[in-house]
Amino acid sequence: TPSAIPATGYRLRLPGPTEVPERVRQATARVIVNHRGPECKTAIGETEEMIRPVLGTTNRVMFFASSGTGVMEAALVNVVGPGSQILVIEHGQFGERFTSIAKAMNISVDTVATEWGQAIDVAAVEARLRERSYRAIVVVHNESSTGMVADLAALGALVRDRPTLLIADSVSGLGGIAMRQDEWGVDIVVSASQKALMCPPGLSLASVSPKAWRVIEQDERRSVFFWDFRRALKSIELSETPFTAPVSLLYGLRESLTMMHEEGLPNVLARHEQLSGALRAGGAALGLADFCERGPRSSTVVVFKVPDGLEGGTIVRRLYADHRTVIAGARNRLSGRVIRFGTMGAFSAATILTDLLHLEDVLTKLGLPVEAGAGLKAATEHLAKTK
Ligand code: PLP
Repeated sequence: TPSAIPATGYRLRLPGPTEVPERVRQATARVIVNHRGPECKTAIGETEEMIRPVLGTTNRVMFFASSGTGVMEAALVNVVGPGSQILVIEHGQFGERFTSIAKAMNISVDTVATEWGQAIDVAAVEARLRERSYRAIVVVHNESSTGMVADLAALGALVRDRPTLLIADSVSGLGGIAMRQDEWGVDIVVSASQKALMCPPGLSLASVSPKAWRVIEQDERRSVFFWDFRRALKSIELSETPFTAPVSLLYGLRESLTMMHEEGLPNVLARHEQLSGALRAGGAALGLADFCERGPRSSTVVVFKVPDGLEGGTIVRRLYADHRTVIAGARNRLSGRVIRFGTMGAFSAATILTDLLHLEDVLTKLGLPVEAGAGLKAATEHLAKTK
């Protein structure tokens, strides 16, 4: 069937990687300079300076050439020595990845599993901490697989007067939802460039608290080289990275952070909250239920249940074929049952209204009883209400 709406440009609407603004793309195209020369040092220094308020920290922030999984592994390998145990909170696919990484490293790991789409059970975590002394609690701040957010303030309060560290993956949260690392007592935050930070994939970062540094500096003969935070700290003190810096990506991140500061960080977070709410309202009006029924829902990832009788992949493929709108399904136990939109980084009301227009078209073609214009109406009402 020919589409009612002609396909236009490629619309990258995944929960990462996300669309890279033209200004950032141009910055990444700058001439490559000496990675230990003054231009690169300036770029690293300014990037670190500008990302600290996004993290809510006064820590040194270390940059690495890797995707997000690399710094997830780095966070563990730097603090977990022989014989120490960690507690992983699993509330989605990326929490399970932390467990897999830990097992691959022969780390002794316990888990607190929460049903996907439900809020984390902080009381259950506390009960575990009373039973055993863990080196670290490990949690995904923003679960991209479910659209649920972890209450880091509550988890931070649990470890404040204990030797246990709190490690958080904010790969899909940082820059789109609040992060107050110092205030909440998060010891290690790791993140990556390709999501709310609006950059191409390939640059990751870690911010480490003084409490975590005390653990790292105890010599436990850890098997670590590339990821050694001690070496990375010495480098960042010189505004360098230990090994060849991903120069282009650092230029890109400096530019995207400049854009975020121009917009104003509170405004950036408010925009994410408002627009994700509008997409949820519009989806509901099209008959798409939110995967997370209650609890702290993400402003950066919107996850809808696929209506009965449909397969998620069909919607994903049709959106691409007919509209060049690229969204995600699931590559885990939810496969076929959910569809996921990124609502982070460089996006506006026009972005989510276009998403809803395309969704309406595809759901109608797939035989769903969709009321014409209902999604757009609900979304615009939400936008007006939350102005
Ligand atoms: N953690 C979360 C919450 C993510 O969403 C992702 C990527 O989707 C990752 C970790 C892994 O990042 P990468 O694919 O960059 O290794």
